[in-house]
Parts: sequence; structure tokens; C-alpha cells
Amino acid sequence: MNTSSYSVVVDNVSKRFRDHIALDRVSLSIEKGKFIVILGPSGAGKSTLLKIIAGFEKPDSGKVYLEGEDVTNKPPYKRNVNTVFQNYALFPHMTVFDNVAFGLRMKGYSRDEIARKVKWALDLVNMGSHINKYPTQLSGGEQQRVALARALVNEPPVLLLDEPLGQLDLKLRRRMQRELKDLQRKLGSTFIHVTHDQEEAMSMADIIVVMNRGKILQVGTPEEIYENPSSGFVADFIGEANILKGVVRDIDRNSITIETDRGFSIRADSSGKDIDVGSNIIIAIRPEELMLSRSEVPEGYRHIDGVVRDYIFMGSFVDCYIDTGSGELRVRLPKGEAFWIERRARVKVLYRPDRVRILSQ
Ligand code: ADP
Repeated sequence: MNTSSYSVVVDNVSKRFRDHIALDRVSLSIEKGKFIVILGPSGAGKSTLLKIIAGFEKPDSGKVYLEGEDVTNKPPYKRNVNTVFQNYALFPHMTVFDNVAFGLRMKGYSRDEIARKVKWALDLVNMGSHINKYPTQLSGGEQQRVALARALVNEPPVLLLDEPLGQLDLKLRRRMQRELKDLQRKLGSTFIHVTHDQEEAMSMADIIVVMNRGKILQVGTPEEIYENPSSGFVADFIGEANILKGVVRDIDRNSITIETDRGFSIRADSSGKDIDVGSNIIIAIRPEELMLSRSEVPEGYRHIDGVVRDYIFMGSFVDCYIDTGSGELRVRLPKGEAFWIERRARVKVLYRPDRVRILSQ
């Protein structure tokens, strides 16, 4: 592989902590100048992967390359990356200026250069007016910005972000997500951001890397991963799908009929897929792609009969839980379309066969 055309290459890396496998033969090539989000539930191995790229952990086997250079055995300070952690780790007894200048002083830059670079980094994160404050005089979001400036001041080609927004409240988190994304575009460097929040991943990433149990399950753009999840786990993790198991009972040109484990049959578009009658199959339907009606079935739709078990207002939409016999389907309706829903109402769950995703399990 030509590793120098990538910002970061992780090649067949494994890491064990006593008898626990944190990373299991993980390989990943990251293009320059992209915003990468590593997404997965807690314990998936995301932080371990980031620490191995940064040099804070050593892999048991495998290699790490930064811009073509094998850095597997190099300590963190000899790698051209900087890391921003969740807990800011600012020096409490130093001003904002001194926190950001710290690394530059260690490297022996002149006073003038330090002043210029610190101002540049603090302006980037809109903290230029807080230069003489101490960390305790700043809010959580402001402290996180200083931590970012402290990493950015080194102008690293690769910035690693380990759940850096994890301690912020939701509103601030959303704002910082947009700011981080803008910053990455402006700088054109590679950002590798770890999170367990799928909305955060969808809104920030050029490329999402989905991890679970020490393995990479899928790598793709947010749209690719949402539209074509490679497994039931990915489908469910990205956007809470209805995941159904079933057996293929009939094939009619590009359409298959699946007898599901929830007590109903469903039709799916199978164009381009090689599927046999009798095979076991897993399908996903997103709650927002289902509709409900009392009786009518519009052209192009098929339906499943059910009874409303419950519904929950979620702000701009309503999540409805429909009992379908031996299981449940979740249907997400825009608020304006849910006014007639009541518990125990008989309904038709409407779906389009071309929106039923057949997962390669
Ligand atoms: P994530 O960042 O996805 O939540 P981590 O990479 O932190 O996951 O951890 C992956 C697994 O490795 C977890 O089960 C965790 O408990 C374990 N682990 C991580 N670091 C250590 C360590 N220093 N010692 C022992 N176990 C660890």
C-alpha cells in the first residue's frame, strides 16, 4: 500500500488488555484533509484506536503510519499529531495565553512568534478577548475552546479529538459541532473525532467509521452508512431502525416476499441482489419511512395491519409503537400528521418496498 498518500494508515492493529481484546486486527486508511468520525458504543475500542494513533498506547501487533512514515515505535511527542481530550486538561494556575503558549515555549520559539501564534489560535476559536483569564474564570465551552487552541497552535496536520464535547450541555454541544466542522474546513487539516453520539457523527463527518467490540464494521459517508448499512448493528446504531428477521417465501422478478418474525409478511425490492427462496434474511425499515393510515393505502405503498400500543411526543415528531401480532414496529410521524393517533386504534402501517433495506448480515 502507498501509505504516503494518506494522512493516517492503521494496518492490522490489535490491542489486548489482559484477556480483553480492545482492538481486533483493525485496518483503516484516512485521506488527507477529511473530517473523520469514529462512532460506536461505549467500550467499542474507539479511544484505544485514537491513543494508538497518538502514541499513548502501543499496539500488540500491526503498524501505524502518519503521512507515510512508520511511527509505530515513536513516542507521542515525536508524532505530528495533537490530541484534545474530553476533560480539557488545562493548567489551572496558568492564564489562557500561557496555557496555549506552553508547548511553543517548550519548543523554543521566540517571544514574538509565540505571541503571534497564540493570537492566531485563540482568534480561530473566538477566544481572543479572554487571553488573560484563568481556566476557573471560563465556562465549560470556553475551556474546551482553549484546549482546542492549545492543540491547534502547533498546526498539526492531524488533530485527534477524543469525545471533546462530551461534557458540554446539548445546545452548546451542537454549536461547537458546527464550529469544529467550520474550523476543519478553514484549516484543511485532518480531524479524527471520537464519539458515541450518532447525530454528532452524522452532522460533522465526511467519513464515519463505525466500530463495535474492537472491530471496524463499516466505513463510509454519512449518507452511504445511513442508506446502505452493512449489518443490523449499523442500521440500528445509525438512526434506530426497525430490524426484522425473516425467511424469503417468494420471489417475483425484482420483488421478494419475506415472512418476518413479527407476525406479518413484507415485500422488498431485491433488484441487484442474489437471493433464494427459503434463505434467512435481515431487513431494516427506518421509523421515519413508515406512515400510518386508518384504512386507505396510497399508490406505491403496501401495508401491515396493526394496533397502536403507545405513542410518545418527541417535540417536532411523534414516535408511535404499533403492535403487529407477535412484535412491534416503530413509526415516526411529523407532529402535524399524528393528531388522530390514539391508543388501541386499528391502523395500517404503510411502507414502500423500495425503502425496505436488505442487509448483508
Ligand atoms: P471506547 O472508547 O469505544 O468507549 P475504549 O477504547 O476506551 O472504548 O475501550 C475498549 C475496551 O478496552 C473497553 O472494554 C475497556 O474497558 C478496555 N480498556 C481500555 N483501556 C484499558 C486499560 N488501560 N486497561 C484495561 N482495559 C482497558
